[in-house]
Amino acid sequence: MDFKDYIRVIPDFPQPGISFKDITTLLNDGEKYRLAIEELKSRVSHLKIDLIAGPEARGFVVGAPLAYALGVGFVPIRKSGKLPYETIEVGYDLEYGKDKLAMHTDAVKPGQNVLIADDLLATGGTISTSVDLVRKLGGNVVGTAFLIELGDLNGRAKLPGIDVFSLVHYD
Ligand code: 5GP
Repeated sequence: MDFKDYIRVIPDFPQPGISFKDITTLLNDGEKYRLAIEELKSRVSHLKIDLIAGPEARGFVVGAPLAYALGVGFVPIRKSGKLPYETIEVGYDLEYGKDKLAMHTDAVKPGQNVLIADDLLATGGTISTSVDLVRKLGGNVVGTAFLIELGDLNGRAKLPGIDVFSLVHYD
């Protein structure tokens, strides 16, 4: 199965020169969505995973079903100000400006093995910030999982020593 056939590429979105990988067409197809999650599950099945953490919003649509399939918990990583309980935050640079991601302070127990999942790896900024958050809570990041990896942006370089599992590659 080539999952690429179910991903819609939108030129010049959200700005000129960006070729946006639209996963809504994959999510819309129940069988293909399920197969994609099952495939990711098989790629990470050799790991010991206690929890999956995923950054909002598309990290939820990959991370939560993967957690369900593996029978482990799911932890949301959210933009600053969205989580109701006590949080820790880590800032990161965007193309224009800065933002912060947050987690509940009790979301990960020290020593827990955490897989971080998102829909897409581009520059690696989102996922490396997520790694920092999980590690600050004492979690052990056992890998990262994505539907899509944009190879030419080399997000892997921001994840030294961390395994990257991805289903679909674009250069
Ligand atoms: P990075 O932080 O690695 O540069 O960008 C990855 C983050 O931006 C992910 O959370 C992802 O949801 C979002 N993102 C960036 N480009 C795309 C894209 O082309 N398609 C989708 N679906 N998400 C994108």
